[in-house]
Amino acid sequence: MADPELVVVPVDGPAGAVFTTRIGGVSIGPYAQMNLGAHVADDPDSVRANRGALCARLGIDPARVQLGSQVHGVHIGAAIDPLPESAFLAPDSAWPDRDGIWSQTPGVAVGVFGADCLPVLLWRRDRPKVAAVHVGWKGLIGGILEAAVAILDAPGRTGVAIGPGIGPCCYEVGDELQDQFSRRFGDHVIAGRAVNLAAAAQSALRTVGIPEDAIWALETCTSCDVHRWFSYRRDGAPTGRQMGLIWPV
Ligand SMILES: [Zn+2]
Repeated sequence: MADPELVVVPVDGPAGAVFTTRIGGVSIGPYAQMNLGAHVADDPDSVRANRGALCARLGIDPARVQLGSQVHGVHIGAAIDPLPESAFLAPDSAWPDRDGIWSQTPGVAVGVFGADCLPVLLWRRDRPKVAAVHVGWKGLIGGILEAAVAILDAPGRTGVAIGPGIGPCCYEVGDELQDQFSRRFGDHVIAGRAVNLAAAAQSALRTVGIPEDAIWALETCTSCDVHRWFSYRRDGAPTGRQMGLIWPV
């Protein structure tokens, strides 16, 4: 297996954080190569191998990786440690319905999946406390980023990384959603008939006190770059999922 490609986030606090790409891994066909999603009908053995390779590469214990069953909601749950089993390497494991997970236990990693929706990672600069959040349009409108900032409980001492998502070049939406976004986040998040999810995320974060210079954004479009990213809007089902992963140290 080729090593998984990782985008390492420059975290200025006691945490490590990465975004995966589709490069590396053993999945084939529409899941090629580094699919980490277990709910997309990929071969479970491939998903297990990919997840194992990711943990090995990062030096993370797979038994201490926590996920959510992402439902486009706004609930953020606490990580539980220790887990009863090595669920990350058992791809058919059921996770609680939650779109964000937070952890303040060194070594307990939290992760979210995406294939156009933004994976967003947050960390405290002054103590080991982190959160991973799955941010699509529903979560953005519903306020999941504001909820994550509230859980970390110190906006002036919080850093944020916005991962790979669909860009305004490829995310045309209907009139109603354009209106909702411009009312909620400002006209600057609308480009023609498209929504700029990353700009809306930055707007939400700034509203609750995250300074602009505390936000790191991977400016890319999952739909435009077929070599590097899975994109549900581009490929439909079946396709794979990339991941954002963060852990306190
Ligand atoms: Zn694009």
